Amino acid sequence: MMNFGFTEEQSMVRKMVRDFVDKEIMPYISEWDAKGHSEPRILERLAELDLMGVCIPEEYGGSGMDYNTLAIVCEELERGDTAFRTAVSVHTGLNSMTLLQWGNEEQKQKYLVPQAKGEKLAAFGLTEPNAGSDVAALQTTAVKDGDHYILNGSKTWISLCDTADHFLVFAYTDKSKNHHGISCFIVERDMPGFSSKAIKGKLGIRAGNTGEIFFDSIRVPKENLLGKEGEGFKIAMAALDNGRFTVAAGACGTTMACLEASIKYCEERKTFGKEIGKHQLVQQMIAKMEAGLEMSRLLVFRAGWLKNQGKRNTRETSLAKWQACDFANDAANDAVQIHGAYGYSNEYPVERYLRNSKAPVIYEGTREIHTIMQAEYVLGYRQDKPLRNTLPAWPFEEALNKI
Ligand SMILES: Cc1cc2nc3c(=O)[nH]c(=O)nc-3n(C[C@H](O)[C@H](O)[C@H](O)COP(=O)(O)OP(=O)(O)OC[C@H]3O[C@@H](n4cnc5c(N)ncnc54)[C@H](O)[C@@H]3O)c2cc1C
Repeated sequence: MMNFGFTEEQSMVRKMVRDFVDKEIMPYISEWDAKGHSEPRILERLAELDLMGVCIPEEYGGSGMDYNTLAIVCEELERGDTAFRTAVSVHTGLNSMTLLQWGNEEQKQKYLVPQAKGEKLAAFGLTEPNAGSDVAALQTTAVKDGDHYILNGSKTWISLCDTADHFLVFAYTDKSKNHHGISCFIVERDMPGFSSKAIKGKLGIRAGNTGEIFFDSIRVPKENLLGKEGEGFKIAMAALDNGRFTVAAGACGTTMACLEASIKYCEERKTFGKEIGKHQLVQQMIAKMEAGLEMSRLLVFRAGWLKNQGKRNTRETSLAKWQACDFANDAANDAVQIHGAYGYSNEYPVERYLRNSKAPVIYEGTREIHTIMQAEYVLGYRQDKPLRNTLPAWPFEEALNKI
């Protein structure tokens, strides 16, 4: 059954997040962005509003809503700023949903429950100085020592590096097995040997915290191995199916913000005796934004619909992420164009949208990686095999009763 409408609950969540963004982010964001200040109060407020575990079952401390409600939250948050959606992407999409999919009961109780309640903040450490798209090139190692693993190495470009309490960290337990030798660990900031350092001078997402994390012989208890030894690569790819979904949904928020700002400016600005919105070449840019927004949403909600049914959605999520992020980046470029020289200054928000819209074209699979993935699916060079663990279908009670 297909349904293109929102449920009453989804409409209420959209309105609640929109009101929150309008009141508590919009008035301050250009100042936070200019100062490179990531306001910690915003993440606390998201927790108070029960938005840090939107699609995590209630029995694990979450709100128990469906996966498309998470998409709605991400779209509305990114309408305010990409930094806050990025925080939800790593906390919920890349970390909590991964614990839900791969964690054992003990790990879920210890880590997922406080994360879903918003009491603890979580992040995801995959990228390294010499390993981005080429995940198997990572150099962090985990060596078994009795009841512990000793972790050494570092990660870079990690969102929430200075503020997260828990990290999923990917490391080689057996380098000779190439990507089949990567394992995933739950690492706590408080573990001796952990440190972090923010990256300064970012193009965008300046109101967000991004940087390096270092592991200096951290002793991680064996209970913190997620899944089995050697399952890390699969876990990372499954995590990205969820992270990319939130990035794609967020990109719709940037396109929507570009459209809103451009419509307003089209009404205000006059050239050659009429509002610029009456010029057909300006209309072309507005029409492209509208088309991009609607196409992106359809791709995002289709991926969410598959998630709700517990079906594999790597292909559909990759397409949604690639297209929605490209559309948002193009929309931001056109929004600056529509604003003329004023768009080139921070008097208007569109230059921030342009700077912010670039990172999502790079992170969670670059534009080029998604292009290759889509071509490979179509050409039959890539097929998704069933995973040992899947995300629970929604509604969660039904899924849990079936087990
Ligand atoms: C703001 C921000 C936040 C981030 N947050 C996180 C986070 O929380 N956790 C995390 O683990 N990582 C994070 N990242 C890192 C991000 O996921 C990586 O930057 C991304 O995976 C790309 O890797 P790379 O930067 O090393 O680029 P590279 O992989 O070195 O790629 C460089 C260029 O080569 C192209 N390229 C590479 N391989 C191919 C190929 N086979 N064919 C064609 N072209 C190719 C790429 O598309 C790109 O254009 C973040 C990045 C940013 C910018």
